[in-house]
Amino acid sequence: MLKLEQFVFNPFSENTYVVYDDNTKECVIIDPGCSNAGEENQLFGFIDSHRLKPLMVINTHGHIDHVLGNAAVKRRYGTETSAHPDTESDFSQAKRHAVWLGLLPEGAADVELPDLDLKDGEIIKVGESTLEVICTPGHAEGSISLYAEIEGWVFTGDALFCRSIGRTDLPGGNYEKLRTSIKERLFHLPDDTTVFPGHGESTTIFDEQRYNMFLA
Ligand SMILES: [Zn+2]
Ligand SMILES: [Zn+2]
Repeated sequence: MLKLEQFVFNPFSENTYVVYDDNTKECVIIDPGCSNAGEENQLFGFIDSHRLKPLMVINTHGHIDHVLGNAAVKRRYGTETSAHPDTESDFSQAKRHAVWLGLLPEGAADVELPDLDLKDGEIIKVGESTLEVICTPGHAEGSISLYAEIEGWVFTGDALFCRSIGRTDLPGGNYEKLRTSIKERLFHLPDDTTVFPGHGESTTIFDEQRYNMFLA
């Protein structure tokens, strides 16, 4: 069984997740959003004190609040970064946005394109467990969710939130696509699956099917 640790980082209050197997010590870092040394120390402190071995960074999509810490994690652990190939244009904008928002010093080469491409249905092994890539575009091009079947968890990035859904007014956003992603993909997961979104508190598939007004 996997365990997880959640951090809330950067001015966008983005959820960063460390998902790990306590026996093998393998871990992946989902959407490292750390934007300063203090936040990096929180993340690295957890990983180091638990003696975890980061396998890779997984980005649910390429928006700046989800990728700010990619380079810091790579520098420290040598891990590769993975995302869906359709995120490329968001990744290439992310650095510009970071500098513009004052989140990166001018000239810092701190947001890079991902090293590895993830595709729908791909299985990522973490210790004795797995994460399955589920394509859930609509909030952004190439948005993915990650489903841990044994644990009954799904990490939804900015596709599905507790009682809300991702905005669709940014480049690559598409409301119909997002509705389809949620209804045809996420809502087909078991009812008791816990949803860990990119912002805000966790929820379940059952509760969102019932109470999410944006999907009525
Ligand atoms: Zn986003
Ligand atoms: Zn976000």
